[in-house]
Amino acid sequence: MQKRPTPIYQPRCRVCKSPFRVEVEKALIEGKLNFSAIARAVPANIEGERVTRRSIRNHYDKHLSPSLMQAEARIAVQAVEDELWRAISDSRHERSGASR
Ligand SMILES: [Zn+2]
Repeated sequence: MQKRPTPIYQPRCRVCKSPFRVEVEKALIEGKLNFSAIARAVPANIEGERVTRRSIRNHYDKHLSPSLMQAEARIAVQAVEDELWRAISDSRHERSGASR
């Protein structure tokens, strides 16, 4: 009965509790910001609690939403494809330059 992936929610995890959980996970998957940069970007909650670099790392390791992990896999594939296209078009440029 556990076939459908459900987001993991850990009440002790500040990222899981955060209203910015989705934003944090998007930032993690895009990989443009490191853990501490994300921690700085997330505002404190009503109780004045901030997410920490450690809580983000822990969340990334253990609680990332299954649907987002699929998105991460897609992004990784996309990155490889982009890289391939760049390599292909670069080699075309080189060839046309060499034929001069
Ligand atoms: Zn979490």
